[in-house]
Order: sequence, then C-alpha cells, then structure tokens
Amino acid sequence: KILLASICVAFLAAKWTSPRFDADSLKGARVLVTGASTGIGEQMAYHYARFGAKIVITARREKVLQQVVEKCLSLGAQKAFYIAADMANEADPDKVVDYALEKLGGLDYLVLNHIGPSPFSMWKGDVDHTKWLMKVNFFSYIQMAWKALPSLEQNKGSLVVVSSLLGKITSPFVAPYSSTKFALNGFFGSLRHELAMKKSNVSISVCTLGLIDTDSAMEKVRGVTDVPAYPATDAALNIIITGSTRQPELFYPWFTYFIVITKDWFPSLTDYMTQNSYNYIP
Ligand code: NDP
Repeated sequence: KILLASICVAFLAAKWTSPRFDADSLKGARVLVTGASTGIGEQMAYHYARFGAKIVITARREKVLQQVVEKCLSLGAQKAFYIAADMANEADPDKVVDYALEKLGGLDYLVLNHIGPSPFSMWKGDVDHTKWLMKVNFFSYIQMAWKALPSLEQNKGSLVVVSSLLGKITSPFVAPYSSTKFALNGFFGSLRHELAMKKSNVSISVCTLGLIDTDSAMEKVRGVTDVPAYPATDAALNIIITGSTRQPELFYPWFTYFIVITKDWFPSLTDYMTQNSYNYIP
C-alpha cells in the first residue's frame, strides 16, 4: 500500500509540476511529421494545423498526403506541404529533411512517427522482414534526427519520437516491431544524455503509447485482445503537448506508466498478465 501510494504521489507531483502548454507557441512553428497519411500522424498534422503551424508531412502514398495537406490548410495551417518517401530507401530520410528545411526555412519540431507494416503473429524466423522493419522504424529515425539536428539547435527545437509500451515491456506476436521500438528507446535515451552533457538546447521527447484506435492497430488486435484502445486524436494531442513543453517522456494512456514501473518489481505478474491479455488457444 505504501509503495502504491508513493508511486501515485510521484506520478501526480510530476503531472502538477510539468510546464503549462502554450498553444500560441505553435503558431508559425515549423514542423515535420512523418507517417502522416493515416493514424496518429494524420491526427497530429490536423492538430498542428489548428494551432497555426507550418507543416511538412510525409509517408509513401502521395494521393492521401495531398488530401491531408488540403485539410491542414482548411484547418488553419500557415503553410502545408507533402513529400512522398519510402523510409526503407536509404536516400529518402535525408531527402525528406532537406525538403522540409527548404520549404519551411528551418525546423522547430521533428516528429518521428512512421512505422512499416508488420504481421501480428508468432515469430516464424523471418529475419529479412525484421531487417527491413529496422530500416523503416529505426535507422530512418536516427538518420532524420541527425540531419535535422543542426537546424533544431539553431532554433531551440524539439525532437519527438513516437514509441510504444512494446518498446518498454515485451509481449508475444510482435517480436520484430517490439525490437525496433526497444532500439528507439535505447538510442534516443542515449542521445538525450549526450545533448544534455553538451548543453545542447534541443529537447528529446520519447512517447510511450498503449493501444490506440487507428485502423491498422485495430485490424490486428480485433478479437485477439480485450485491452481498451484509446482515441488517436487524443494521443496525437498529448504527443504534441509533450514536445511543445519539452518533456522527456509521455505515457499515454496514463496507466502505461504504472505497467512500466511495476514490470521490474513484479516480473512474473507482468508476464502472466501480458500472456493472458490475448485470446490464444495453442
Ligand atoms: P499507422 O499504421 O496508422 O500509420 C503508419 C504511417 O506510416 C502511415 O502514414 C504510413 O503511410 C507510413 N508508412 C508506412 N510504411 C512506410 C514507409 N516504408 N516509409 C514511409 N512511411 C511509411 O500507424 P499508427 O498511427 O497506428 O502509429 C503511429 C505511431 O504510433 C507508430 O510509431 C506506432 O509505433 C505508435 N504506436 C501506435 C499504437 C497503436 O495502437 N496504434 C500503439 C503504440 C505505439 P503510407 O502507407 O502512406 O506510407
């Protein structure tokens, strides 16, 4: 009971002492959002647009990006551009950052959010898929971050990395995906130390998300788990606020924080609950 009470107090204290979000600070902010043709990335683009930001969005499907850009402009974006790119191609991450720098004249926010499709199934030894997914979900992130860093440094900018609870705790059916998210947490955690030690003014926010109701996620888990899914638009807003207030971490929904801190204290219980959260009959 004392442990639980201390955890709750620490959590609430962290909430109360976190800086207030100033929506006006995003007016005219120069933002690059990846994976913005659908899902959480698309919702982030709309929120940034409503806040009056200047946006570049990217993903592979040009036609969909075009529609998202049109909607962003109608919602109030000061500027909105798109560039189609495949993050599995080695040249594309740099190409996208260069395009954003050219169109916006610099960057205040780099929001790394895209993921490649990956099966929701038991590991069957497909190493090539895992290598490919690493390119899309991990290597492109570090390439874009490195390319954008000089501009972010000039502008006291923020780097926002959309990660997952599956980058903090392990779970069945998602071995390749989970590996890419653990890699992101390791890399950007390390980079955050280095930037702090160099007294850099760039903030890094790593966002730990639970299940969110995007089409791609829902398709995978329908009938497989009863874990509640949270709204993509709310997740998107929380990510934006976390980046804007320069918080190192977001846990969304709130209880993902408790799952993460209890897994080291009660590993067997966490394993039991994880395995029993799926309807699986061997
Ligand atoms: P979606 O599958 O809805 O969207 C993925 C985006 O990435 C799309 O815009 C897609 O567009 C783009 N994309 C896919 N492949 C590539 C590629 N090779 N190159 C460039 N872009 C690509 O994802 P979500 O919105 O559900 O997830 C967004 C983020 O949130 C991810 O980082 C995910 O890990 C994280 N998250 C999501 C959870 C959830 O339950 N939804 C839970 C925890 C974390 P296109 O097909 O046009 O390329």
